[in-house]
Amino acid sequence: MRIYFDNAGTTAAKPEVVQAVLPYLAERYGNASSIHAVGRDARKAVEKARAQVAAAIGARPEEVYFTAGGTESDNWAVKGAAFALSSKGRHIITSAIEHHAVLHSCQWLQKQGFDVTYLPVDADGLVSPAGVEAAIRPDTILISVMTANNEIGVIEPIAEIGALARARKVLLHTDAVQAVGAVPVDVNALNVDMLSLSGHKIYGVMGVGALYIRQGVRIDSLLHGGAQERGRRAGTENLPAIVGLGAAIELATQHVEEHAARLTKLRDRLIGGILATVPHTRLNGHPTRRLPGNVNVSVDYIEGEALLLRLDLAGFEASSGSACTSGSLDPSHVLLAIGLSHEAAHGSLRLTLGDYNTEQDVDALLAALPGIVQSLREMSPLSHLNS
Ligand code: PLP
Repeated sequence: MRIYFDNAGTTAAKPEVVQAVLPYLAERYGNASSIHAVGRDARKAVEKARAQVAAAIGARPEEVYFTAGGTESDNWAVKGAAFALSSKGRHIITSAIEHHAVLHSCQWLQKQGFDVTYLPVDADGLVSPAGVEAAIRPDTILISVMTANNEIGVIEPIAEIGALARARKVLLHTDAVQAVGAVPVDVNALNVDMLSLSGHKIYGVMGVGALYIRQGVRIDSLLHGGAQERGRRAGTENLPAIVGLGAAIELATQHVEEHAARLTKLRDRLIGGILATVPHTRLNGHPTRRLPGNVNVSVDYIEGEALLLRLDLAGFEASSGSACTSGSLDPSHVLLAIGLSHEAAHGSLRLTLGDYNTEQDVDALLAALPGIVQSLREMSPLSHLNS
């Protein structure tokens, strides 16, 4: 039996989503820009999905633009705002723990002559609203801070940051890819001007997302071509995926509080169990201001990748704070930002729970983990450090 604990990585499309998508792969194949019957059918489906996304985040349908996923939404928000507002100023504020879709967009903008402030976070991963306020300059045009972090699950004080951004007349973008469907998200309660979300994190399909752009906010287009998405995002609409996103976001947000309460219990059982049964482990990220399904622990004296492989062999799918890229092991920028050493960041384990996980799954992992860690430590050159 395999147990999936990587729901922040991606999620399986729900059966209801698959049912909604299937007709649009075959008989309902229209191009939403065509005026004939199948085209009009496609247009209706796209607009229904737009209304579903808008309702889920407290927006108006005309403020929702479909994209090819969270990465495109983040790129569009950050680069689009930067270029639209460059005559007003060239300073952007973001945090050190953003997803690379935001961080690398900011780094690219620096090469185009923009100035970026990367705000530090505290040991729990929180961005300080006072720190944001202190960083605002007369030439600041954009603040981009994520609603919730994908690695350590910390939920940022976006509503407070939004209130001060509004008072200082600076645009605020938030990457809510991990937050939507996990906790209640409302663009007005959060005071945001732009918000990114993605289909495959909420039991939809891959390769689709949306960017909320508050009415009246002007940003440049990222993709140029046809007049789709009211002339702001070119390219034939990905009809099946958009229909899937609409169905998925409706399902995910309808009972979000109930789902969150169930996952929070499982999460705390998992965290408590690991810290109690595996020596030399520590929780990463805020203990309570965190996504209901997120567990991230440092396991001293082991390599995260070795632990993942052993867990995989034992039937558990998880992830770690180190990513093996072309032969070099880069520790997670998020774990380094909360003050972990390179060794501790390499020895981290992320377990992200989702709708299909049960108490039995959690207990199965808790039964297997201590033995796996113990045997890895016995093989480790650092094992003498392990009491
Ligand atoms: N932002 C966050 C916080 C994410 O977790 C992810 C995906 O891992 C993305 C953006 C990118 O989304 P997508 O995979 O849809 O491009």
